Amino acid sequence: MTDQIPASLAKDPDRLCQALKSADAATLMLVLVQLTGDTHWLDLAKPHIRGPMNYHETMPEPLRDQIRTALFDVLIDFAQSGRPVPAIPGGALLTNMMSTAAGEVVSDDYVAMMRADLTPQTDKAQGIAWRNKPSKAELDGFSVVIIGAGMSGLLAAIQLQEAGIAFQIIEKNPTVGGTWFENAYPGCGVDTPNHFYSYAFEPNHNWDNYFSKRQELWDYFENVANHHALREKTRFETEVVSAIYDDVAALWSVTLRKADGTLETLSANAVISAVGLLNRPKLPDIPGIETFKGPVLHTGKWDESFDWRGKHIAQIGTGASGHQVAPTIAPDVESLTIYQRSPHWVVPNPNYFGVVEDGVKWVLAHVPYYARWYRFQLFWAFADGLHAALKIDPLWDKPGQSINKANDQHRVFMERHMRRELGEDSALLAKVLPDYPPYAKRILIDNHWFKMLKRPNVELVTDKIARIVPEGIEAADGTIRPADAIICATGFQASHMLAPMEIRGAGGLDLHQVWGPDDAQAYQGTMVPGFPNFFILLGPNTALAHGGNAIFIAECQMQLIMNALRELIEGHHKAISVRPEAHKANVQEVDDLHTGMVWSHKGANNWYRNQHGRVFAVLPYRLVDYWRMTTHFEPSHFAFDDEAV
Ligand code: NAP
Repeated sequence: MTDQIPASLAKDPDRLCQALKSADAATLMLVLVQLTGDTHWLDLAKPHIRGPMNYHETMPEPLRDQIRTALFDVLIDFAQSGRPVPAIPGGALLTNMMSTAAGEVVSDDYVAMMRADLTPQTDKAQGIAWRNKPSKAELDGFSVVIIGAGMSGLLAAIQLQEAGIAFQIIEKNPTVGGTWFENAYPGCGVDTPNHFYSYAFEPNHNWDNYFSKRQELWDYFENVANHHALREKTRFETEVVSAIYDDVAALWSVTLRKADGTLETLSANAVISAVGLLNRPKLPDIPGIETFKGPVLHTGKWDESFDWRGKHIAQIGTGASGHQVAPTIAPDVESLTIYQRSPHWVVPNPNYFGVVEDGVKWVLAHVPYYARWYRFQLFWAFADGLHAALKIDPLWDKPGQSINKANDQHRVFMERHMRRELGEDSALLAKVLPDYPPYAKRILIDNHWFKMLKRPNVELVTDKIARIVPEGIEAADGTIRPADAIICATGFQASHMLAPMEIRGAGGLDLHQVWGPDDAQAYQGTMVPGFPNFFILLGPNTALAHGGNAIFIAECQMQLIMNALRELIEGHHKAISVRPEAHKANVQEVDDLHTGMVWSHKGANNWYRNQHGRVFAVLPYRLVDYWRMTTHFEPSHFAFDDEAV
């Protein structure tokens, strides 16, 4: 983004004109309003925008043409004149633009976040907004260990680098990418659109797909690591065994296990755990699994040499991972038997298999603000615009099947899609139609799942699995279905966060004892009392279960972490810790909110709750609320130095 539109934009008007034809007219209209301040375009477009994603171009063709022509003229004029573009719109206009973009009323809660997103300097990672920038000598005495070189670890490294703070990344894998390196199962990809699922400061205007597969995502993170020269600051194939805080020295001792098995200890002022939540595969505890004669694979630890073609495959699990595996392998296997314990709600998305046209890529890269407004539309469609559908209405009269009016509308929409896909096959429909409210478990995007289920070589088994025998899987009714290989798409050990690392804070406090086996809690998902200078990315109650974008969450957390580091370094302190009362109040608020949200609904099981029913994994807030609370650093919530330990 820029304060001026480059003169080069006017050099090839035909290219500009052609590219504008491929771009979304609603998004172009928002750019036009921003560049001209002319709100009559909002009035003209508003009646035709029924939702943030204008998949079916509900706007009449003549209006789309008018918008494109007007924007073309405006862009050429700015490019030729060199006039600076107008300031970011003020609150009332921005609210009007966001509401028009969303096709519904967007409150002014979003103004500050949107203004920050539209402001040019957000094109780079900001590091720390120093008040009194420390000297190099002061900064030289401070270092951070980042555990993990996945999405959140790379983000932390980039921001520390911008701030001039020394760091080392410790990564157990041979390369960067985390989830996108580890999850190599067939069909692996995102179900959050890429133009939203990317760092805010590092947009990729060249995504080939709207919903990329693993390789394209992994490439993105590899490129980010290269662009910011992070490899040379990363120790690969090295695992953190423990991090122990020394109260007297106010330093962390981080013990590493190197590739050759030997141990080494580093010292650092602060530690950022960026190990992610979903990376320790959970095999099903089904009797006899060890007796199976063929390979047993897990989606999270995929053997890339495994060839499924021509084989009889059994797949256990139909969550987000299993939902991607089965349609990918079904055409090539001899038979596929899918064992489904619970069905998922599945939503169609017209863009799911969409390829991004060259013209759209060009507009994203060259037309100012287009990418930002498109990102807002995605933000609304895949995150905050859904939030109202997650809140339990205590007066709702169909509490078994939905939780409020908006939630019920989602249910009706998805049920209609399922019925349309399965046609007359009422037996199959009965198996796949959930009997719980939408969003109580993760919603999946239809990737030809239902078409796959209708294939002659595919069987969906909903009987309980009794045991695994050497030749296959035995269902509760005694039927044994033979298999050459078993694919477990059975999820991850999410609840025992940060395991197996030993983490000891002030006075030797053991983090795993504080949390118990499955009750991780942290202030804004990031800091735990008694653990000074220790920060957790994607920690407790920060996962998103309704859509959203984990990168956005990690970016919010880094705002909190960088503010905490600023206070620490500028204040010449040695230690910062969250106060127990601030932590307790935040956890209480999270728990209170969750009692009124769909993930607490007893009609469905999910991996977000622990054995006591407490929701430990997911965020109850709207993203805008989390953005605001992590942007605002509240000094009274923190203790320093001796008080911090
Ligand atoms: P998951 O959502 O936990 O699903 C595990 C599946 O295995 C469920 O269908 C579960 O049934 C079944 N299962 C587990 N143990 C079983 C047993 N003993 N017997 C029979 N069935 C069993 O795991 P996941 O699919 O790997 O996804 C985990 C999370 O990773 C997702 O929620 C998402 O956050 C993330 N993810 C995202 C994407 C994406 O963006 N496209 C892709 C993959 C993963 P129940 O439902 O009855 O428990």
